[in-house]
Amino acid sequence: MQVDIDIMEQMDFEEISAPLVMQKLKGVRRNSAELGPCEVCASHGSEMFLMVLAEPFEHDGETKFAERSYTFGHEKCLREFYEQVRNIPAAQAMESINLMRQRQHG
Ligand SMILES: [Zn+2]
Repeated sequence: MQVDIDIMEQMDFEEISAPLVMQKLKGVRRNSAELGPCEVCASHGSEMFLMVLAEPFEHDGETKFAERSYTFGHEKCLREFYEQVRNIPAAQAMESINLMRQRQHG
């Protein structure tokens, strides 16, 4: 049986072990009273940020990025969290993000 798979479908968490890059870190205009607490430290703040982590991959000789996660929190917390996960396989990093969320939501 022949199966056609396009490039994005091949970008599976389990198959890619390239380290993550911080693709974006941008301030969000609403504060955490509306959006919920920081996903890293679980406390509220007035200046909150959204961090996009992405996996680099080669396609037609160019480096492209597949967005993998959106994490919300204080700038400092997000940067520290990124330092912890940047050199581990992406699948493992996603796992830590999920665990972090589960801890917060009980
Ligand atoms: Zn925080």
